[in-house]
Amino acid sequence: MVDHLIHIDAPREIAGRELKRRYSLEMGLRPDEIGAIYITPCQAKTISILQPAEEAESNLDGAVGISQVYNDILFLLRKTPPKDETQRLSWISGDLFPWGAPEGEFPHLSREHFLPLTGLSDIIKVFDDVEKGKLKNIEFLECHACRGGCVGGNLTVENLYVARAKNLHLIANRPKPSPEFEKEVARRLASEDFSLRGSLKPRPIEGHVLDLRQRVSRKKRADELLKGLPLLNCGLCGAPSCRNHAEDAAAGRAELGDCVFLSRDRIVQLRQIYKRI
Ligand code: SF4
Repeated sequence: MVDHLIHIDAPREIAGRELKRRYSLEMGLRPDEIGAIYITPCQAKTISILQPAEEAESNLDGAVGISQVYNDILFLLRKTPPKDETQRLSWISGDLFPWGAPEGEFPHLSREHFLPLTGLSDIIKVFDDVEKGKLKNIEFLECHACRGGCVGGNLTVENLYVARAKNLHLIANRPKPSPEFEKEVARRLASEDFSLRGSLKPRPIEGHVLDLRQRVSRKKRADELLKGLPLLNCGLCGAPSCRNHAEDAAAGRAELGDCVFLSRDRIVQLRQIYKRI
């Protein structure tokens, strides 16, 4: 599975690095003297910035939820609207802008056989079908853990469907990137400037295969544990939902107390991580 992942860094990481480079040149500061804060649609991205996989280092220094800054940004935009249409469009001209929604990535890959997927449970079903050989000839799977893509993240402020419609409208009206920009992207892509810095490693999910009796007993245990969780599906424990956390705890892969709402220690630990922001 890991061998099939495309080794391109996340757009937020590339943006963080590019902004630090630009302001470092413009302001004469070292990149490590510049802080880059990501405005995030979900906590999972915050965790990936503060505790990146494979012990890599993020180019970003922290994150704030969209809902935390939305009203302030809207107020400032209304107070200081764009001077003209060119400036307004320049604010939404990023070529990676469509990546927050399903079907945003595949146009960049010129693939014919692709599937855009959203929502972890649907993604897992499709992975199973690929593994069983039910689905074949797929060149590219575009997977978003949140249902509806990043526009459906739990720190966003808008109804998923309204956000999706607005997103499509902005995508349709955004200007095409200039030929110079395209040329620079092609040059850097060739020199692997956008590649992941470390290599991704597979993570074992089960120590041994369970028989039917063990699976039923584990499911019952997970159902019991789920009753004691707050069902907020906030993702702060590291699992995408409370059910997943209960299943991990029943399987011994996590402690039930990793739920931040059950454990004082976990709150203290997260506070220490967040203090870096
Ligand atoms: S188990 Fe707790 S921390 Fe994990 S998703 Fe549910 S409410 Fe959030």
